[in-house]
Amino acid sequence: MSKVHIKADDFRFNNAKKWLPFLDACAEEDVPVAVGVIARNLIEKGISGSVRNRLNMANVEVWNHGDRHWREEDSAEFLGPSVEDQVKAIKACQKACRKVIGVRPKWFGAPFNLYDANTIDALKKFPGISGTYDIPWHPDIKSLPSYLNITCDVPDTDRKFGLDRAMKLSRPFIRRRHPFIVQIHPGNHWEDDCIDRFRTYVKWMKASGYEFVFADKLMP
Ligand SMILES: [Zn+2]
Repeated sequence: MSKVHIKADDFRFNNAKKWLPFLDACAEEDVPVAVGVIARNLIEKGISGSVRNRLNMANVEVWNHGDRHWREEDSAEFLGPSVEDQVKAIKACQKACRKVIGVRPKWFGAPFNLYDANTIDALKKFPGISGTYDIPWHPDIKSLPSYLNITCDVPDTDRKFGLDRAMKLSRPFIRRRHPFIVQIHPGNHWEDDCIDRFRTYVKWMKASGYEFVFADKLMP
């Protein structure tokens, strides 16, 4: 069976509730999903018990998506800042996930997939992080290159889930039976119809011979 991975980005304290229908759909479809958490204000504001419970279900893995998710013209949270500042950002998210959700993320991914040499030095301080999205820095660390990503939220519709787009971008991988990553942002602008389309996509992928897996099971 070929493998596909769902990388769901940008869980924040102020969109936490919006993730509920998406997480429910993943549970009902029996699909593993990796939720990228942004730390900022998570400890101060907290999340509801129902969101916390969903994030602790067996089909959910939480990964470290930094502290503030900022980007400027030539720099970003993990592109430009010192090693020390990058360590702080990674640490802030590890701490927030531990305190608020009760989990210790094992994967890290930089906002906008932008990183530099300092990110690699920063990651060396986190032996608990055993996998990265697109940062191949050590043979013992699993890494998934960003060329495997397909972005299924349609830019000109406020980044809602696009079924046609998802199918179109999936087909070249399916034809080669190649593993790939479905990158989505369900906490941002998704509405109920996005959840329906997402469920249709999941069923279509399964019918196409694909199994949904966590990040560390995607590549042999
Ligand atoms: Zn992001």
